[in-house]
Amino acid sequence: MADEVVRYEVDGVIARVTMNRPEYGNAQNSAMTYALDDAFYRAAADDDVAVVVLAGAGKHFSGGHDIGTPGRDIGTSFDRRAGLWWDHVGKLGGESRYAREQEVYLGMCRRWRELPKPVIAQVHGACIAGGLMLAWVCDLIIAADDAFFADPVVRMGIPGVEYFAHPWVMGPRQAKEFLYLGERISAARAYELGMINRVVPRERLADEVTTVAGKISAMPRLGLALTKKAVNQAEDAMGLQVGMDSVFGLHHLAHAHNAEVGSD
Ligand code: ZN
Repeated sequence: MADEVVRYEVDGVIARVTMNRPEYGNAQNSAMTYALDDAFYRAAADDDVAVVVLAGAGKHFSGGHDIGTPGRDIGTSFDRRAGLWWDHVGKLGGESRYAREQEVYLGMCRRWRELPKPVIAQVHGACIAGGLMLAWVCDLIIAADDAFFADPVVRMGIPGVEYFAHPWVMGPRQAKEFLYLGERISAARAYELGMINRVVPRERLADEVTTVAGKISAMPRLGLALTKKAVNQAEDAMGLQVGMDSVFGLHHLAHAHNAEVGSD
């Protein structure tokens, strides 16, 4: 279906999940968030799928959260899945923002990070703000040489996107520069920082991802699932989850401040 916000295709042992709002740089609204969740659930449940690939249709991987397309659906209720926070719709102020972001941003990203199969982000073009969160929850990030990355939200007075993995995916000092400047970094720079696995020419991106996914799929399913868990646990032991929870409070202080002074 052409109007699907997420396409799901199985190609041999690979499930390809493609964000499909190319006319808006794949801006992530809630419809897309829940469609991504459906796709990841499907890929996890399908015994024939060994590896999952997350990609974006059109010119960009992801321009981030939908903050202004005609499909913005911030006032729409969806059946919540990431946790037991109540529906944000019909609530006021911080209660609404906190419940919403726990569910669709922090909660969903954590849920997807736990998908017990290897997930590869296939990144080209923009990977901005909320787009970083989607790439970071994947296990490998393979980027085209035209890819660029940025988290510019400090300009809005906010200390980084909701899934605050910056100090863990690039190191604390680089995370400060990345956030303080809010500038784009190239795929080559992201590779230098250790934030991504490989950089390949744009025209070879899909083939490279397919080759890597194919090699991974030769490993035993449980071995891969346990290995993923092992590395994720190590990252958690390095403070990822508790760090992220404490920053989520600062993030919401910033939202509340902006609302109080009238600029959110
Ligand atoms: Zn937020």
